[in-house]
Amino acid sequence: MDWQKLETYFRSLDRSLFVENELKKHASLDEPLPIGFGQTISQPSLVLEMTRLLEPENDSKVLEIGTGSGFQTALLAKMSAEVYTVERIEQLAEKAKQRLNALNFSNIYYKIGDGSTGWQECAPYDRIMVTAAAGLLPDELVDQLATGGRMVIPIGPPHLQELKLITKTDTGEINLKTVELVRFVELKGQYGWTE
Ligand code: SAM
Repeated sequence: MDWQKLETYFRSLDRSLFVENELKKHASLDEPLPIGFGQTISQPSLVLEMTRLLEPENDSKVLEIGTGSGFQTALLAKMSAEVYTVERIEQLAEKAKQRLNALNFSNIYYKIGDGSTGWQECAPYDRIMVTAAAGLLPDELVDQLATGGRMVIPIGPPHLQELKLITKTDTGEINLKTVELVRFVELKGQYGWTE
């Protein structure tokens, strides 16, 4: 991964573009902020750290679950070839798409629906980033991860989870590593928490 390119783009990306109205003045704080519908944009330092962990390459095909505001999507799209992003809340997905179009990204594909089952039609993916917390590792996402691939996902109960790095070796073996404790909103859906 091009670490310098990530740092430079991260520093240049104006987070106030990804939140609404009166929250814009808080955009420079390293804190989560509400984006509506009970959802949040994570603190920028965590978004950067999770992107570093994922290690997207410039030829990577990336699946993101939980488009939210589109801020994380922008970093992924800058650092990889294609991003397939899934969001279950239509209004958030539409707004994120408008923002990312305004930033001239043309390598992002959007889907509205339950991302806990991934995006089977376009699998496999070299990288999978999940930005909502699952109770268990969704089998469907593991299946859609390419050999040699990496997935970053928070796993655990509501309010406190372990951030996991999942790797799939060239022989298809799955390895899990716990990175740190985090707090994400719930991943809903078939392989997530009940709607
Ligand atoms: N990465 C986002 C950003 O930079 O703004 C923040 C994502 S927010 C913490 C988690 C998002 O996951 C919410 O927008 C939520 O609606 C979405 N989500 C939860 N369960 C989902 C599911 N099953 N499929 C798709 N999106 C889901």
